[in-house]
Amino acid sequence: MLELVDLTHSYGAYRAIDRINLTVKQGEVVCVVGPSGCGKSTLLRSIAGLIKPSGGAVLLEGRPVESTPDNLAVVFQDYSRSLYPWLSALANVGLPLRRRGLDRKARDEAAMAALTEVGLGAAAAKFPWELSGGMQQRVSIARALAYRPSLLLMDEPFGSVDAQTREELEDLVLRVCAHHGMTILLITHDVDESVYVGDRVVVLSKAPGTVVGDLTVDLPGP
Ligand code: ADP
Ligand code: ADP
Repeated sequence: MLELVDLTHSYGAYRAIDRINLTVKQGEVVCVVGPSGCGKSTLLRSIAGLIKPSGGAVLLEGRPVESTPDNLAVVFQDYSRSLYPWLSALANVGLPLRRRGLDRKARDEAAMAALTEVGLGAAAAKFPWELSGGMQQRVSIARALAYRPSLLLMDEPFGSVDAQTREELEDLVLRVCAHHGMTILLITHDVDESVYVGDRVVVLSKAPGTVVGDLTVDLPGP
């Protein structure tokens, strides 16, 4: 469903990622792990269409990603900048659904369902500044869930919360994503996290980032 072909990006003369080839299947949870500065954010931003890569291609369901922006949602590390402070949690989650052509009532219903799923049904009327960091990141996750993208991109989504919240959010993502069969590409510098969350772990080398490992995680059941 996602195919990266010789994906390359340079900032001026500096090459950040170098000929990355990767195929992600429907329903896979892929973690991309690598040292700081190896080009993980560059990779994610290229996939999201936020930067135009200097070389190669990103195909989402067989089409160039630029032509299918509606199939993607992104959860960033910095939740404090990803929610609109003047909108309630409910309105924040519902807002992107305007692009799906849903009316206010349908948006509110879908947003409420997603907030309930992440355990924030009771906080729907609250504003971002009334919520803890972990709760704000749950709202961001709910917004991505409500949008029902075919691919969910996550950029160090648990990087700015404390260790306990981090574990809760990791479990939340695992549970809701398995439930919806979502395809996820999550980038992290934390190897433990990548193995815990991912079905598959793709390892990038230090700069310029290139794929040096691609492992299937097969943990025994409880
Ligand atoms: P990571 O997410 O793995 O830490 P990044 O993709 O953020 O890596 O960055 C890869 C390399 O590209 C780093 O050396 C970084 O300094 C450089 N870089 C990132 N963004 C820019 C930019 N806008 N202009 C110039 N260099 C950049
Ligand atoms: P339109 O009729 O153009 O679709 P809406 O009446 O849906 O607009 O929304 C008007 C404004 O209210 C928008 O700027 C939107 O950001 C905001 N808004 C939308 N949904 C909610 C909500 N559930 N709660 C609070 N504000 C909302």
